[in-house]
Amino acid sequence: MIQTEKIELLDAQPGRCALIAGPCSAESETQLLECARSLAQQGVKVFRAGVWKPRTRPGNFEGAGDQALEWLRRVRKETGMAVTTEVANTRHVEAALKAGIDILWIGARTTTSPFAVQEIADALRGTDIPVLVKNPINAELELWIGAFERLAAAGIKRMAAIHRGFSSYNERIYRYSPEWQIPIELRRRIPGLPVICDPSHMAGRADLVPHLAQMALDMKAEGLFIEVHPNPEQALSDKAQQLTPAQFMELESRLILHREPLQADLEYMEPLRARLEETDLKLIQDLAERFRITGSIGEYKNLHNLAILQPDRYNAISDILTGRGQELGLDDSFIRLLFETIHAESIRCQIENNKKQNK
Ligand code: PEP
Ligand code: MN
Repeated sequence: MIQTEKIELLDAQPGRCALIAGPCSAESETQLLECARSLAQQGVKVFRAGVWKPRTRPGNFEGAGDQALEWLRRVRKETGMAVTTEVANTRHVEAALKAGIDILWIGARTTTSPFAVQEIADALRGTDIPVLVKNPINAELELWIGAFERLAAAGIKRMAAIHRGFSSYNERIYRYSPEWQIPIELRRRIPGLPVICDPSHMAGRADLVPHLAQMALDMKAEGLFIEVHPNPEQALSDKAQQLTPAQFMELESRLILHREPLQADLEYMEPLRARLEETDLKLIQDLAERFRITGSIGEYKNLHNLAILQPDRYNAISDILTGRGQELGLDDSFIRLLFETIHAESIRCQIENNKKQNK
């Protein structure tokens, strides 16, 4: 079980959620200071900027490097904000620690590599700096959890997750698909771990950031990690998704923060929840019945040398179900996905049963 401790620097100010904001990359001292001054004025307490940038393709701007650590120190001295940057190897960790960076983050590309995460964890051993871990770029929860385990084993206690979305070949609207169920499962697996959302990388487009930021709070995110640049059009990396300080202020002022449920809320929801539980239990019973029937059909197919998959039947039933779903106001793609999952399980059971029968 991973034990985490609170990162006080990420405590939310009254009436606000925890906010980390700043440009994608540290480009120059002037750009950093200009951005930091306007964010500090808006009450932001933690300033982000990438000193070393992992670029998908070579030849793009790779960050200003070590000199930018000095700029971040200046930001902290002038504005009083804490500063955070991304580290991807031992050298980065050593340089960032030496420069007195307050919080480190591990980027999405790095979290996918157990060797790299282990190297960072080893370099951090003996320190107690807070570390934020972005989700791996591919939708693989175990890699994300593995990174926390490696850091915990190196003695790091103050940790938080950053949910920045997952790479998907088909995603059209967002740059990275949110897959909200993954951070939900992460919270279940590591209770007490704060999850902060990065709607900037998720959206990939400045105009979509506010709505994702709100969705994240609706999904119980503990804070937001947002890219803000004094002049996004001139940004050397991720220019489409960075907000101006004014856009950031607007976004923050429109956020709806949620309160914890009171006794009266719980009492109101209790009978509804009881009915939900009853329906869910019924769904499980119906599923068990469904798989008993598949078992009998499977046995027949096996005895009579018929293939497990009967595509005509599969297509027909899939159409019947989505049609009925539509009549009942259910989402088409949800019904298809649900049926695909049930059908895949039916096939798996039939294969298993055949193996047993044919022994
Ligand atoms: C970033 O935060 O600028 C960054 C590179 O993020 P990610 O690792 O999520 O792509
Ligand atoms: Mn970025």
